[in-house]
Amino acid sequence: MDFGFTDEQELFRKTVRQFSEREVRPQYADRERPDYDLPAFLQRMAELGLLGLRAPVEYGGVNTSYVNVGIATEELSRSDYNVGTLIVSSVISTEVLSLHATDRVKEEWLPDMVSGRRHVALALTEPHSGSDAAALTTRAVRDGDQYVITGEKSSTSQVDADACIVFVRTGQGPGARGVSAILVPLDTPGVGTSRFTDLGMKLSRRGALHLDGVRVPAHNLVGREGQGFYTVMNQFDYTRAVIAIQCVATAMQSVEETIEYVKARTAFGQPIARYEGVSFPIAEALATLEAARLLCYKALWLRDVKLPHAKEAAMAKWLGPKLAVEAIHQMLLLHGHAGYSGDYPHGQRLRDVIGHQIGDGTGEIMKLIIARETLGREFRPR
Ligand SMILES: Cc1cc2nc3c(=O)[nH]c(=O)nc-3n(C[C@H](O)[C@H](O)[C@H](O)COP(=O)(O)OP(=O)(O)OC[C@H]3O[C@@H](n4cnc5c(N)ncnc54)[C@H](O)[C@@H]3O)c2cc1C
Repeated sequence: MDFGFTDEQELFRKTVRQFSEREVRPQYADRERPDYDLPAFLQRMAELGLLGLRAPVEYGGVNTSYVNVGIATEELSRSDYNVGTLIVSSVISTEVLSLHATDRVKEEWLPDMVSGRRHVALALTEPHSGSDAAALTTRAVRDGDQYVITGEKSSTSQVDADACIVFVRTGQGPGARGVSAILVPLDTPGVGTSRFTDLGMKLSRRGALHLDGVRVPAHNLVGREGQGFYTVMNQFDYTRAVIAIQCVATAMQSVEETIEYVKARTAFGQPIARYEGVSFPIAEALATLEAARLLCYKALWLRDVKLPHAKEAAMAKWLGPKLAVEAIHQMLLLHGHAGYSGDYPHGQRLRDVIGHQIGDGTGEIMKLIIARETLGREFRPR
């Protein structure tokens, strides 16, 4: 066994860390503002190749390993949780289009996505189908060389993106069969959007997408008709581990800052670090976060070597956000009243990380996946 990164991976980590510390960390609070210039920041990420991690070289991507996606996400999330989210949405959308879109769509969209000129979101969740995503009702009807789409997507990150991979029902039957994925440019007539006021993850600019008789070319179909659900669920298998790394990295940053704080802060005549009531929560956070981190990298490594990893990724996605929320909360408390103020980033981190106890599948759904992968599909709840 080998738990170390290669020299090449260490060099990659160092490069991303330098960018993260110099250019990402100082603006963590600023990026919450609704008027933050996200397109300019995406261009900067693109200059470093960070928006093409899983895109083919022929479209300007770097097509790196899944472990490297984890390394980039970890380093960026230490400075700003939301920049980690940008990596996740970028790898999902570029990889789904590279693997399943028509050549025309790939040529039209991938170079712009990789260079930060255009951003593509993903819309699955609807007002009456979240965890039970396959119950979606948004419908696409074929009309000549177009699809006509009508429905509502109730929870879409980057709802102000340039386009969205929208999940629609093209077939008759219920459930996952009959669900297709179609790329919808968001400037198409009939598309309306509204933004939510979220507790955290504000750079995700989540909102609702309204589709009223929206006509898109048939070649915008992503993958085969009726196979859209399976096409993208395969991506979610590993991005769950990437999201978990995001959470763990953010929490680890809080722990490291807290270690410095408790050594300097005194109470009852000595540094509070001397009290076990202070040092033990830090020890617990270090142990639990490191365990979750290793699970994340194991899932990504399994993906790299083409072995099954749905169970490990679901384990990571359940544990990562949960342990991160607990750790950041505890680190905030160890700062006393100061931790509750906006002068420290722990509160913002806590608000951000809670988002992924829900987004991309809740802890309960992760446990259903772990059980399904272990006990067998015949023991799924009906
Ligand atoms: C920050 C954020 C970003 C998001 N971004 C996107 C996006 O870009 N695109 C997109 O399509 N969606 C997005 N979502 C939506 C997200 O994927 C859904 O919120 C999530 O899948 C849960 O669905 P729901 O909110 O409808 O909750 P529900 O499915 O209504 O669940 C409510 C509660 O019931 C529990 N529950 C449901 N079924 C079961 C069961 N069988 N057993 C046990 N418990 C169960 C859940 O765990 C949860 O606690 C985002 C959400 C958040 C918070």
